[in-house]
Amino acid sequence: MHEAIQHDPNASGPVCQHCGYLLRGVRSAVCVECGRERVRRLTFLDRIEFDAFRAAFDLASVPHEYSDPGKGMLGMATVAYGLSISPMILLTWRHIEAAEAALEDVGLALPVALVDEEEPYCPCCGFALDRALDEVRCGVCGTRCAWYDEHGPPEGAEER
Ligand SMILES: [Zn+2]
Ligand SMILES: [Zn+2]
Repeated sequence: MHEAIQHDPNASGPVCQHCGYLLRGVRSAVCVECGRERVRRLTFLDRIEFDAFRAAFDLASVPHEYSDPGKGMLGMATVAYGLSISPMILLTWRHIEAAEAALEDVGLALPVALVDEEEPYCPCCGFALDRALDEVRCGVCGTRCAWYDEHGPPEGAEER
């Protein structure tokens, strides 16, 4: 595993969030093991933010699944892997851009995934990122990524 992947709580590495199958090197937006759509996991430490994200997605009809440990499992199918004690939202890759637009409408934004330049791989899907750019959108899954280094996270990026 790459350190950057393990240390980014917004992502869990290129594993299927449904069945846990390791999908490193797999470009498909559908898990080759269980056949479900691959998702980006957003984990929230702040319940108000969690509620705001869900409200924005509902308002714009962006399909998403979520888990609210405080209220039990609601609104989502079985997620066998990667259960979190924090509230989380799962977004399928093809809805990431719609989710960004929905959040922008209400003054929010998807967290930028911070990636170690020494290990330039997208934390969501595991594909290599272009180190020549300051901020990159992963060409495979659509996650926006930025580099961090010993100087700390770049301006505007969130580290949770
Ligand atoms: Zn799977
Ligand atoms: Zn990616």
